[in-house]
Amino acid sequence: GLPNRQYFWQTLEHKIRRQDPLYLLYLDVQHFKRINELYGHSAGDHILIQAAKRIKDFTAEQDFVARIGADEFAIIRLCNNSNDEKYNKQSCEKFADALLNAFIQPLYTNKQQGCTLAINIGIAHYPNHALQAESLVKNADIALGEARLPENPSRKFFSSALQKNVEEKLELETQLRKAITDGNFDIYLQPILDLNTESVVKAEALLRWQVRDEVFVSPDVFIPLAERTGLIVPLGKWVIRQVCELLADFRKSNLNIKLSINLSPKQVTDRYLFDFISSTVKQLGVDAKKLELELTESVLLEDYDKATHLLSEFRKMGVTIAIDDFGTGYSSLSYLKHLPIDHLKIDRSFVVDLDKDEDDKAIVLSIIAMAKQLHLSVIAEGVENKRQRDFLKQNDCASAQGFFYSKPMPVNEFSTFIDAYKTA
Ligand code: C2E
Ligand code: CA
Ligand code: CA
Repeated sequence: GLPNRQYFWQTLEHKIRRQDPLYLLYLDVQHFKRINELYGHSAGDHILIQAAKRIKDFTAEQDFVARIGADEFAIIRLCNNSNDEKYNKQSCEKFADALLNAFIQPLYTNKQQGCTLAINIGIAHYPNHALQAESLVKNADIALGEARLPENPSRKFFSSALQKNVEEKLELETQLRKAITDGNFDIYLQPILDLNTESVVKAEALLRWQVRDEVFVSPDVFIPLAERTGLIVPLGKWVIRQVCELLADFRKSNLNIKLSINLSPKQVTDRYLFDFISSTVKQLGVDAKKLELELTESVLLEDYDKATHLLSEFRKMGVTIAIDDFGTGYSSLSYLKHLPIDHLKIDRSFVVDLDKDEDDKAIVLSIIAMAKQLHLSVIAEGVENKRQRDFLKQNDCASAQGFFYSKPMPVNEFSTFIDAYKTA
């Protein structure tokens, strides 16, 4: 029973022509597709009608509500008190919060199955945020995109800072695409030491992206971006290829060192991952036993059976598997004993205060004890000082990496480091 998209545009343009100050609220239902999949389309329609009613019940006589997409609604809310901007904004804030709250209560399908809709709201003001209907809608949509980011339903007002943020993200994405096409990255290596012998046995390959002289973009920024945009798959292939080439070089110069690669969840669900790695290994004559893959717990939890199968295939080849950031994944420990894995990497957050914090000591000791029972070996990340190293060594932690030994470094420096380390 709501006006459609076309009527919405006409109304918005009309109000803007009359220069009526207003707030445009863009509202969408997250994962609505899942409701159609779970309950069927007619139940989905039923839910949408009730959602529309709920929104309509909440709005005032002079507010205009429309359905502008499958699961998207728009509300045009005239500012009652055009002289008091602060009052108008607060009133709009209150309204949006109340609307979010109204959706905490479940809606029911025609068969009385309850489901809770997660809605998000993006808000833009005319004339403060845009003077034309089209740019006002675009800005409300930008705000909506930002409102979708937190886990819980939320509302967000457009701002020029948001605009800048979106432009920067787009710019970075364009640069990232180009860098991937040009192979414009470097692999840095961080040594991993056997604590028993204090010798370098392995190194972790870490991506570096230098955009200008001395200016690097942190992997903590570009890896999530690459994941969101799917660019992680081609980027990950580049890393795999580079690391295998390095392993081939190591083999030629009789350097007996393993290399480990970080894999993102998106890469692991890429059905060509296994073929790509196994063919690269073969093509370059790499000893698969020298390759290790690091995965986080979240990867395994998404599709346990598929992940287990994939990891078993890798291990049949001789590739070893490490669980990265171990201890941060909130996962059930019982899954560990069935998983085809070799190492647990204790997350840096437990190591950082290891020399002072009794709780961290207890956690690290428990992980080491548990790993022993499960025949897994433990690698500690982020070891920065001698006290941390000594504690780990005294308590039978097998290996360690961190700034205490070395920061990640370019490949040529790595060879020099190894030589110097051996001599020392
Ligand atoms: P990560 O896998 O946990 O990698 C370890 C991070 O800890 C690295 O950060 C490393 O430089 C840092 N680190 C090592 N030792 C110490 C220490 O003693 N103290 C401190 N404060 N930090 C230490 P980096 O290189 O910035 O990488 C950040 C994250 O980006 C990595 O976390 C990994 O999740 C991701 N990443 C890096 N390269 C790749 C890649 O090729 N593929 C994928 N999928 N992810 C990557
Ligand atoms: Ca890692
Ligand atoms: Ca880690």
